[in-house]
Amino acid sequence: MEKLAILGGKPVMEGVNVPEELFKWPLFEKVDEDAVLEVFHDNTMSGNLITRKFEEEFAAWQGRKYAVACCNGTMSLQTAMWAVGLKAGDEIICPTKTYWASCLSAQNLGVSVVFANVDKNTLCIDPDDLERCLSPWTKAIMVVHYYGHPADMDRIMAFAKKHNLKVIEDVSHAQGGMYKGRKLGTFGDISAMSLMSMKSLACGELGVMVTDDKAYYDRCVAYLHYERNNEDNITTEGMEEYFHMPLSGMKGRANQLCTAYARTQLKTYDAKIAEIQKAINYFWDCMEGVPGIQAHRVDRSEGSTMAGWYIPHFIYNKEELGGLDIHVFADAVKAETGYYPGLGGNLPLHIHPVFQTLDLIGLGKPSRIAFAHRDVRELDKALAPTEAIECAEIPYFRKYIPEVIKMYADGFRKVAENYQQLLDVQNDAEGKVEGQWYGKVNKTDK
Ligand SMILES: *Cc1c(COP(=O)(O)O)cnc(C)c1O
Repeated sequence: MEKLAILGGKPVMEGVNVPEELFKWPLFEKVDEDAVLEVFHDNTMSGNLITRKFEEEFAAWQGRKYAVACCNGTMSLQTAMWAVGLKAGDEIICPTKTYWASCLSAQNLGVSVVFANVDKNTLCIDPDDLERCLSPWTKAIMVVHYYGHPADMDRIMAFAKKHNLKVIEDVSHAQGGMYKGRKLGTFGDISAMSLMSMKSLACGELGVMVTDDKAYYDRCVAYLHYERNNEDNITTEGMEEYFHMPLSGMKGRANQLCTAYARTQLKTYDAKIAEIQKAINYFWDCMEGVPGIQAHRVDRSEGSTMAGWYIPHFIYNKEELGGLDIHVFADAVKAETGYYPGLGGNLPLHIHPVFQTLDLIGLGKPSRIAFAHRDVRELDKALAPTEAIECAEIPYFRKYIPEVIKMYADGFRKVAENYQQLLDVQNDAEGKVEGQWYGKVNKTDK
């Protein structure tokens, strides 16, 4: 039996020089820099022409009729919710394991969030849990393709159709991903996403929504873009009265430094995610048969992909490792490889007080239920299965360098296959539920 490094054995990656390009992100070249500098020198940061070109190109790439860019993904999601007609007293179903921006701003619209469990294998909304969440007030489902994994769109779309619900896709983790041969972002009535710098389509600070419905497009424009809310853009009847103002009272214009950057990034994006897929699929191929570590990965034979594999994860099945605590496991992987697998992903949202007690504008009731027909917080009790899921990151390889990727896999494998050596090791954090409210991507404040 090979002695684990954490117990004094020889580390798998001792003395290995990890090439910088294995993890380098975001990737930009001279064309990206030139595009940004041109905006800077022309003083067109607050203009619209570059943004409009980006929207056209993005819609074409996405395979939808319309795209509207805005300042960030959070705003794009709130806009999408308003655009499909969500209003005070309505309910939206959203998975509890996601980044807060998938649904927190629903509260600004008087909409109540009903949290659904995620499926333990996909980490996306569990179609079997939708019926439980349904009520006469349910109007929409927010679908998140979590960490790049496509949600079960066949079943979600069938459920939505049956109950006459709108579907919004949050594609922030999965730009360019495929579900059974069809691009993510083309299923929902409207799809919205973040293109901020750490996302796989990294464009600074930027959000975009896409749809095939001109009325939704018009509502997105009117909600955020005061200088585009006019007869040149809007054709939906009855909206004239409010031209020239942003209906949300917020200014959502994208900064053209970012849309210029987004135009050049989009040109190379498919090649970039193909490289990531090659690298991470290789890692998982090397991990075949390792106990306790379940790949968060899709069945490729169906024409599905993991997009840019945003923050790749594994599901930790500790019962296959004698109940080994995940903290001990992670420390042992670090000792072998120098890489500490970030634990837990996003904490379930329903446990945060912002969804339980916050009364944002003094209505005398928690914002989440301010206009609700029932106390949807009661339904959170059914979310224990999601709370119990343990997961952790694998290295986010951006380049296919098989000899080094294999070494990382060997490090994970060595720990998992020798877990018995660790069963007596103590860890202060043992048993603690891990995760964070925000993506752990910005590890340092700059
Ligand atoms: C990043 C992210 C957002 C928010 O986007 P920003 O551009 O940071 O505002 C929304 N949903 C998910 C799932 C995200 O990961």
